[in-house]
Amino acid sequence: MNSAARRSSLAVKVGDLIIGGGAPVVIQSMTNTRTSDIAATLKQIRLLAAAGCELVRVAVPDEAAAAALGELVRESPVPLVADIHFDIRLAYRALEQGAAKIRINPGNMGGKARLRELCRRAIRYGAALRIGVNAGSLERHLLVKHGGITAAALVESALVYLKEAEEAGFSSIVVSLKASDVLTTIEAYRLIAGQVRYPLHLGVTAAGPLEIGTIKGAVGIGTLLAEGIGDTIRVSLTADPLAEVRLARQILEVLRLRQPSGPELISCPSCGRCTVDLVSLVEQVSLLLRDYSHPVKVAVMGCAVNGPGEAREADIGITAGRKRGLIFRRGKIIRTVPQDRLLEALQEELNCNILRKTRDCEDKFGR
Ligand code: SF4
Repeated sequence: MNSAARRSSLAVKVGDLIIGGGAPVVIQSMTNTRTSDIAATLKQIRLLAAAGCELVRVAVPDEAAAAALGELVRESPVPLVADIHFDIRLAYRALEQGAAKIRINPGNMGGKARLRELCRRAIRYGAALRIGVNAGSLERHLLVKHGGITAAALVESALVYLKEAEEAGFSSIVVSLKASDVLTTIEAYRLIAGQVRYPLHLGVTAAGPLEIGTIKGAVGIGTLLAEGIGDTIRVSLTADPLAEVRLARQILEVLRLRQPSGPELISCPSCGRCTVDLVSLVEQVSLLLRDYSHPVKVAVMGCAVNGPGEAREADIGITAGRKRGLIFRRGKIIRTVPQDRLLEALQEELNCNILRKTRDCEDKFGR
């Protein structure tokens, strides 16, 4: 089963990237260095870009950070988003410095007139805006009207600001609606997806450390993407930003919104039929696969009876026993090897499969 048809959205230009309009879902993350430390921030931007991050956000909390933006923009391999809170002057400075996009939460920027002025300036500089509504800064009257932080309150707040931007003649807008509650987040995006055509930036805000943050991000972002909603994503983690990029990529790959970027390891949960230390075997195979960059599906299964059949979709698989191990391809056993040669044999098969040395394989293994 494939994901649902993508929601139709406007295409918004962010530097040399397009968000929305049917473009591939863009992966974002955010630096956690002091933006005014240009060397450290550039180093992290380059690492993020090398890991597959296509748009990097940097915090602009003060004039020193805004002043650093010009050099960061010139040197960055990907477009940069300036993250601004409270001080609209910093947003103006970020535009002057060449930020491709400004991320603001209009609720903390001091009124609609300021938003309109920012829109006028963004038009002049050819920049995009992310208009982000956060649960934490919802207007009091909306909290009263909706009985607290609800999806409907988030959407109503966003629609007011979007109308202001439109009245300023601005449309290079990406919208985000953030709550740390996953169900509220999902519901809010579902609601707004049917009411505006702007591209949507998905994320579950303040999702927490690696384990729970991964779950919240995967469930929240993954559910929406599977419904065809979402044009750019950030997995928010209290962890190394590189982990955010890896997870974002994995979410897109699992949903077949991106081609696999390397081997995929599948393994069974094991059960009473398993006669080996499967956890340790999977760890060893995982280490081995780090040397490969081809999109091959590798299975490690716990028993010879059911394993090959259960992992029929794998390109190559192994199953270990007490004395001997089996290599199988797409569910069919092709080799039996002594247990202590199993990893070596898997490596040989991977090289044959991936490097397509089929003649060598036929000579070597008689196929
Ligand atoms: S492959 Fe074998 S060991 Fe693994 S879960 Fe299935 S039956 Fe159990």
